Amino acid sequence: MPLRSASPTPLPGPLCVEMHMLLALSGRGCLVLHHAVTGGRSPCAHTPCAPPAPTGPKRTLSASGSQPSNGPEPGGQPLKTRTLSGMASKTTTTITPKRIAHSPSLQSLKKPIIPKEFGGKVPTVIRQRYLNLFIEECLKFCTSNQEAIEKALNEEKVAYDRSPSKGIYLNVAVNTLKKLRGLAPSAVSSLSKTSGRRVVSHEVVLGGRLAAKTSFSLSRPSSPRVEDLKGAALYSRLKEYLLTQDQLKENGYPFPHPERPGGAVIFTAEEKRPKDSSCRTCCRCGTEYLVSSSGRCVRDEECYYHWGRLRRSRVAGGWEAQYMCCSAAAGSVGCQVAKQHVQDGRKERLEGFVKTFEKELSGDAHPGIYALDCEMSYTTYGLELTRVTVVDTDVHVVYDTFVKPDNAIVDYNTRFSGVTEADLADTSVTLRDVQAVLLSMFSADTILIGHSLESDLLALKVIHSTVVDTSVLFPHRLGLPYKRSLRNLMADYLRQIIQDNVDGHSSSEDAGACMHLVIWKVREDAKSKR
Ligand SMILES: [Zn+2]
Ligand SMILES: [Zn+2]
Repeated sequence: MPLRSASPTPLPGPLCVEMHMLLALSGRGCLVLHHAVTGGRSPCAHTPCAPPAPTGPKRTLSASGSQPSNGPEPGGQPLKTRTLSGMASKTTTTITPKRIAHSPSLQSLKKPIIPKEFGGKVPTVIRQRYLNLFIEECLKFCTSNQEAIEKALNEEKVAYDRSPSKGIYLNVAVNTLKKLRGLAPSAVSSLSKTSGRRVVSHEVVLGGRLAAKTSFSLSRPSSPRVEDLKGAALYSRLKEYLLTQDQLKENGYPFPHPERPGGAVIFTAEEKRPKDSSCRTCCRCGTEYLVSSSGRCVRDEECYYHWGRLRRSRVAGGWEAQYMCCSAAAGSVGCQVAKQHVQDGRKERLEGFVKTFEKELSGDAHPGIYALDCEMSYTTYGLELTRVTVVDTDVHVVYDTFVKPDNAIVDYNTRFSGVTEADLADTSVTLRDVQAVLLSMFSADTILIGHSLESDLLALKVIHSTVVDTSVLFPHRLGLPYKRSLRNLMADYLRQIIQDNVDGHSSSEDAGACMHLVIWKVREDAKSKR
């Protein structure tokens, strides 16, 4: 492990080797099926081979470990088609180069050793690895080596003492590492007014605190001034990153139906709607359940599910699939309970779509660049839009509204949507209203940025093909069907932690994150071209 580096440090082995166990358990086909047509296949005629993907419109399934030289990566989303992404080679060559920091590092320090503990709850080697990572982080902000070592030892001890098991230790240790990274000067910054998220200037991210001290700084005065890339110049740069028609298709973006007005087609949709429309498969727990013609559950049945992803962790003597929410083994009864089962259903009702249209531009204006993110809640029909946020290239929110779904809500999905009953209580904005606003705001040539934006466009029922998708721009090292999570991309590339608390995500936070990532990427690439 290159310890003498100011770049994000990789996490130790056990967390870098996660694999989505569903693949191993059930084969890709099954996994893909769950993801692609959750709630849409013939559930009653099918014996689920594994619980489906955890719930949520854009939940990321754990797929693998980290990118070769980057930080924590418990994320990846199975999609449908495996493909070689055209961006893959570009991306790997433009990752922030590791700088050689001319400052104290572990190699020149007398490294404290965790004493061997016979039969300890956490293997010493794991503790040692985290201790080393903690020290490395502490060195970045402590004033002396001794202080860094003491702080790291203390943090490691607290993590160990707090954790009754190895699984919990790993979680606590990762959080400690994130906390320490947040303490490092490169991540200390003001709060963003629009999103409440810490926003770090790109120069600080790229240069870091050590930039001032080292001759290898990326933000030397002689560096090209790509920070000024804005407006039409940014637009023309971004055109190089647009999804191709093939990429739009393999990522499940909606296209206009060739005959049916308002209809859409998805090229990754696998199965037709089941003949027995009263039978559904819960997209959270995999249980089959019956609904009435109104979409209501026929029987009162609670839904026990795991909200966390399944991942493969190395344990003594082999591998074990565990849910990240509770560290329970794959297939175990869910650790969360909801009132009822739910379905996605977005790919079953491909009607009511609108398409962005061509518009004349005046003067030297460009067609616009926006990032977009949606939140969805479960209704009697499935996942429906309940919030949408659009941000501009300055990461200012230009449109943010709660949306009242057409059908009755059965589960606000608050953990993932952040949307609560109170949020929607006074909302009368409908999906049609939102579509009208977006069609006036965007043209067919407007560049829309998002993470797995197809998911948002399906919820919005908007067809748009001028897209930069961060899940494609920063591909998973295993390629599709895996995708990296937005959260992990932010941690890796911008060293920002998107909070993943029980209050749920925020569409303004996620949209802002996508905009930050894309602009960061464009500027990085612009630098390396010169
Ligand atoms: Zn769980
Ligand atoms: Zn369920």
